[in-house]
Amino acid sequence: MNVAQAEIGLIGLGVMGSNLALNIAEKGNKIAVFNRTVARTKEFYEEAGALQGQIVPCETIEEFVAAIRPPRPIIIMIQAGAAVDQQMDLLRPYLERNDIMIDAGNANFRDTMRRFDALKDSGLTFIGMGVSGGEEGARHGPSIMVGGTEDSWKRVEKVLTSIAAKYKDEPCVAWLGENGAGHFVKTIHNGIEYADMQMIAEIYGILRDGLKMSAAEIGAVFGEWNKGRLESYLIEITEKVLAARDPISGNPIVDMILDKAGQKGTGKWSAIEAQNMGVPATGIEAAVAARSISSFKTEREAAEKILGLPDVPALEVTDKAAFIKDLESALLAGKIGAYAQGFAVMSAASKEYGWNLPMPTIAKIWRAGCIIRSQFLDEITSAFTKAPDAANLIVTPAFAAMVKETDGALRRVVAAAALHGLPVPALASALGYFDSYRRARGTANVIQAQRDFFGAHGFDRVDGADSHHGPWGSGLNA
Ligand code: NAP
Repeated sequence: MNVAQAEIGLIGLGVMGSNLALNIAEKGNKIAVFNRTVARTKEFYEEAGALQGQIVPCETIEEFVAAIRPPRPIIIMIQAGAAVDQQMDLLRPYLERNDIMIDAGNANFRDTMRRFDALKDSGLTFIGMGVSGGEEGARHGPSIMVGGTEDSWKRVEKVLTSIAAKYKDEPCVAWLGENGAGHFVKTIHNGIEYADMQMIAEIYGILRDGLKMSAAEIGAVFGEWNKGRLESYLIEITEKVLAARDPISGNPIVDMILDKAGQKGTGKWSAIEAQNMGVPATGIEAAVAARSISSFKTEREAAEKILGLPDVPALEVTDKAAFIKDLESALLAGKIGAYAQGFAVMSAASKEYGWNLPMPTIAKIWRAGCIIRSQFLDEITSAFTKAPDAANLIVTPAFAAMVKETDGALRRVVAAAALHGLPVPALASALGYFDSYRRARGTANVIQAQRDFFGAHGFDRVDGADSHHGPWGSGLNA
């Protein structure tokens, strides 16, 4: 029945897939769609309204593949994990040489590497593609991080460019490297998103529990900050969620929401991969841990009964405006720490997996469409463009200046939070990171001495003489 009329196909008409399909259709690309549950395909087609002419709904895989002009790009936007392998296995017998399977879900990059390798000599191609921006982004323009061969990217570049978010007319899509590069970068994006959200929540906590401000008052503070250097989607939506009212009780909705945050795993993967490569990502780790602690609601309630809140004086500030200004700078400093760590993790992965990740481009394609979009990313693009070989974002001239300008506020805020019993694990981790990273002479000499004492690992000497291990007898050099 179908002549091969579509230029692209999409499998999985859930939240992300259906919105992405409508976006693709709207940008003038004819698209064939398929969903495991056929009823959903019909429902989707009915809802497509004026875009129906651009969509070929298919009820079987056979019909779906036949509807796409070869060589076929096929986006798979379904639940990540085993479902993707099952779907690929079902699809494969119908595919022909040069067809491309594109996994656009939140895959673990290790699965993407495995899938890429499995198809390597098969004549079929695999692309692992990170898509950020949630439902809204998928529908109107996501940020798209592509991993695969450069040749396969060239074959999908036009359609992906047409659907990607635009930042001042520049499309937020790029080919980032071979095999797992796109999904790795998406994972780190999500890790940074965790840290960003956690630090916002910590600042909210200081305003709520320290300064005893209402949700609406705190929302107004975030609204102000969104006009300054913190301007970003996450600050913007924080203002909105703090202003929203619960339709049932009439109370601010945040006051009616249980303090338990879910997580789907990409933050954890970021922390794990950072640890695997020996690169600190303490902001992301603190954020993942904070979400885990948040889920122990019953335990926390029991612990508060046993331990009580810290026996410390309540926070009192003499100059509220100055303190709020400090909070703004502290949040910016914390953000710098989290992004510096995220980029350092990507830099290490780039070397480890031979991706040659383009850091300025990554910052560029995050400037619109994705959850962490912000004007701050424009500054990162600029810093990495000017100093492509910088060891760390915080030693680029622009960011070194920003750290020096804001770390005093971060220190005052973390100190105040500690003294008044307000938890700020992610902000404190950023301070610890700055303080450790910038100190030429640290304290690991003691650790190395201890290691040598109990295991004779040896040590490097400060005077550059040949490394050796110590005599650790009754006296020095005994
Ligand atoms: P969703 O609304 O729950 O939809 C899941 C889709 O997967 C449905 O079409 C479902 O088909 C299909 N599916 C599940 N198991 C399958 C299987 N074994 N074989 C074939 N199809 C199967 O999910 P979503 O939110 O759109 O997420 C899709 C992917 O995008 C995930 O990897 C997610 O992590 C990622 N992602 C989500 C967001 C977000 O904001 N939601 C953002 C970025 C990335 P049926 O209708 O037959 O059940």
